[in-house]
Amino acid sequence: MKKIFFVFIIVVVFNSIFFPFSLWSRYVKDVFIISVDTLRRDFVGIYNDKVVYTPNIDKLLRNSLFFSNARTVEPLTAPSFASLFTGVYPHEHGVTRNGIRFSEQIDSLPKVLSKVGYTTVAVISNWVLNSRISGFDKHFDFYLEPFSTNRWIVGFKESSAEIITNRSIQFLKNRQELEPIFMWIHYSDPHAPYRYKGYLPALKKFAFPRDARGRYASEVAFTDFYIGKLLEFLRNGRKNSCTVFVVDHGENLGEHNYWGHGRHLWEESLRIPMGINCQGVVDSSVIDHFALILDIPNTLLGILGAKGKVLGHGINWWEVVSYKGGRNPRKVTLYQAHKGAVQRKSKSTIRRARIKGLLELGIIDSEGTKIVYRIKDKKIRVVNLNKEKESNIYKRLDDMKDRIYPYLREVIRDLAAFDESSPPPLLDEENYRVLETLGYVD
Ligand SMILES: [Zn+2]
Repeated sequence: MKKIFFVFIIVVVFNSIFFPFSLWSRYVKDVFIISVDTLRRDFVGIYNDKVVYTPNIDKLLRNSLFFSNARTVEPLTAPSFASLFTGVYPHEHGVTRNGIRFSEQIDSLPKVLSKVGYTTVAVISNWVLNSRISGFDKHFDFYLEPFSTNRWIVGFKESSAEIITNRSIQFLKNRQELEPIFMWIHYSDPHAPYRYKGYLPALKKFAFPRDARGRYASEVAFTDFYIGKLLEFLRNGRKNSCTVFVVDHGENLGEHNYWGHGRHLWEESLRIPMGINCQGVVDSSVIDHFALILDIPNTLLGILGAKGKVLGHGINWWEVVSYKGGRNPRKVTLYQAHKGAVQRKSKSTIRRARIKGLLELGIIDSEGTKIVYRIKDKKIRVVNLNKEKESNIYKRLDDMKDRIYPYLREVIRDLAAFDESSPPPLLDEENYRVLETLGYVD
C-alpha cells in the first residue's frame, strides 16, 4: 500500500512538473510573442488618438485581450524579458541588470511549452540579449541573432525591423515539422540612437520632424511597417495562432529631465502597450486594471487550457475575464529600478553586483497611489496617478515607511542571496564597451 501511494505521489509530482496541464487547446496551435524594445505607450495609436502611424499594431491590439493600463516591472531590457518569461519580479529571477545571465535552472514560458511539445524559437535584434551575455538562448531550441545593422557609429551590429521580419518569415517558410511553434520575435529600432526612418516610401506622408521626438516616432512607424509585413505572412500561413504584443519598457524623452530608461520609475518608462490576440478563440475585450508584463505567462497558458497559476505569480487575466466578471484580483503592483549593466572592475564589485545596483523601489496600489523610494538618499515621492502629474519632488520617508520597508527587506534579502549563490561573470572587453555605448554602464 505504502509503495502504491509513493508511486502515486511520484506520478502526480512528475506530471505537475513536466506536464503542468494535460489538455491543450484544440483551437490554438502556434504562439507568437512580438515585442518592441523601448516603445512608449503614447506613441501607439490605440493609446493616443493623435498617433496615426502604427496601424498594424493598433489593428492587432484592437482585436485582442487588450490591456489599457499595463506596466513593466523594471524598465530595463534583460530584467523585463526575464519577468515576461518567468512570471516573477526581478529580485525573484535574479536578472536585475543587463549582463547578468538568465539562469538555465529557472522555469520559463518557452521551457514549459517545450515540455508539452512546442518547438521554441527566438529572433533577437539587440546586443543585450545576445547569447554570450544574456543566457536567454538556453531557454529556446533555436536562438537566432541575425546581427547585421550598424545603428551606432562604433562597430557592433544589431538588427533592423526589416531584417527581423525577413529572418522570421524565412525560418517559418523553411520549417517542415508539424509540432506547434512558440516564437519570440523582438524588434529594437525605437531604442536610442533615434535615427530618422521617415525615408521609407510608405512613411513619407507622415513628414516626421527631425528632432529627437520626430526621429523616435519615425523609428516606431518603421517598426510598425515591418510588423505589418510579418502579421500579413502569419495571417496567410499560420491559422489558429495566438499573438502576444508586448514591450519591455517605455522611454523618457526629456520628461523629468531624463532621457532614456532604466534608472528611474517614471510612468513614461514603466507604461507599456500590451495585448493578446487569439482571433476566433478569445473575444476582444479591454482590461483597465493594473496589469503587469509578468501576467503574460499565466494568461497565455490559461488561454491554452491551463487552470490557475502555472508559472510565477502573474494573474491569469483570461480566467478573470471569463469567469469572475473582470474583478480586479490584485491590491498592489511592485516596481524596481537597478543600475544598467554589471561593472567590470573587479571580482569584489561583481560579488555585490545586484545589491549595489538597486536604485529605486515603487509601489502602485489599486487606488492609483504611487510611492517611489529612492535608495541612495532614503527619500520618497508620492503621487495620485488619477489626479496629478508626476513631479520630481522627493520628501522624507516618514509615514510611508510601513509600506516601503517590507518590500525593501524582501528585495534586499533576495538580491543578497543571488549575489552569494550566483555572482555574475566579469564582462569581456568587447561586451563592456558595447554596453557602455548603449548607455548601460554607471
Ligand atoms: Zn529594452
